[in-house]
Amino acid sequence: MSIQRFSGNFTQQEPICDNAIEAAVEVLKSGRIHRYNTEKYKFSEASLLEEEFAKWQQSSYCLACASGGYAMSITLKAAGLKKDEVVLTNAFTLAPVPGAIVNAGGQPIFIEVCEDLVIDLDDLDKKAKSTKARFLLLSHMRGHIVDMDKLQIIVEANKLILIEDCAHTMGAKWGDRKSGNFGLAACFSTQTYKHINSGEGGLISSNDAEFMARAIILSGSYMHYEKHGAAPDANTFSHIRLETPNFSGRMDNLRAAILRPQIPNLNSNIQRWNKRYTIIDNKLSTINEITIPTRPQKEHYVGSSYQFLIKGITTEFAYRFIKANKELGVELKWFGDDEPVAFTSNHKSWLYIDTQPLPTTDNILSCLFDIRIPLTFSTQDCEHIAEIIGECAQQISLKGAD
Ligand SMILES: *Cc1c(COP(=O)(O)O)cnc(C)c1O
Repeated sequence: MSIQRFSGNFTQQEPICDNAIEAAVEVLKSGRIHRYNTEKYKFSEASLLEEEFAKWQQSSYCLACASGGYAMSITLKAAGLKKDEVVLTNAFTLAPVPGAIVNAGGQPIFIEVCEDLVIDLDDLDKKAKSTKARFLLLSHMRGHIVDMDKLQIIVEANKLILIEDCAHTMGAKWGDRKSGNFGLAACFSTQTYKHINSGEGGLISSNDAEFMARAIILSGSYMHYEKHGAAPDANTFSHIRLETPNFSGRMDNLRAAILRPQIPNLNSNIQRWNKRYTIIDNKLSTINEITIPTRPQKEHYVGSSYQFLIKGITTEFAYRFIKANKELGVELKWFGDDEPVAFTSNHKSWLYIDTQPLPTTDNILSCLFDIRIPLTFSTQDCEHIAEIIGECAQQISLKGAD
């Protein structure tokens, strides 16, 4: 192959912006790293982050906590999940999602994925009825948003409590409405590979006062709930504060200080991601061997990663395809591997959950590939990457022709 090797790094994020570094240094100098260690009347960085994120997300309340997975697990608890109760969720998602359900005492029941990488609404309706589930933890996996209008009809018809996993949709919209504003609550991650970066961290948004009061106490607020920036009023806590256990998982001021200055940059970063996404998309749409999930008109996504299918690819050819890309410097992730690799695993390797037949999902995952698009990649880098993927897809299909 004449094509040049790509030398960029798929895990290299942009540096934390200077004002965030300065804010972090201030926190360190103050010694007040714990979120409730505030001078009298002064709101902490964690509390200010909650206020600013709630405003940005257009939600009444926000809680900052330890991770996205932790956020989902206390969200389920605060929403009233009972021991061994069923939680419906996407079969195509990341391991912290079933993990959070199990951590909260629930039992995940997986819903099939569609070729467009969103939850299968027919399977959802069917399983909502057969299990009589009360909860749907909807994972907008890799930023693909299902038709939320149709979803809402199923949610209402089956009286489901909707919780959104927005780890990949911070800043995305369905129509005019922000992803995360469709159900009881939404959970976000501020882990390094998501849309804002504090290494680890989680955010919960909601408009429901009692839910949020329970989540705040669960997160480990002790009796400091009045020091929260975007919390319901003290009355809401009067009983909840004594009835709710402390599952210690707070966010500290250091991480909050790093995150606050990143919020105003989110919108411009979304544009930068989408510019890169579009370049890759334009190129790969011209490759016959590659199928690209269609995205609905109403979806305003954040293109921080890219997914495509090579339909009918066998395991052997999938390995060859990955290897060929790797030799040219492109790191692909493949959800169809029998062996879970790095961040990527699928329902077959979650042995702590009873086996569930998911033939459509298995079929789709077997031919689904995924790349990250870090903002350190230039637009030329994205052209280069797409060229390599396209070339490898054509080569593989030539070899695999029968
Ligand atoms: C990253 C991620 C989470 C949660 O992330 P944490 O690492 O726990 O912060 C949840 N859902 C999806 C789909 C994710 O990718």
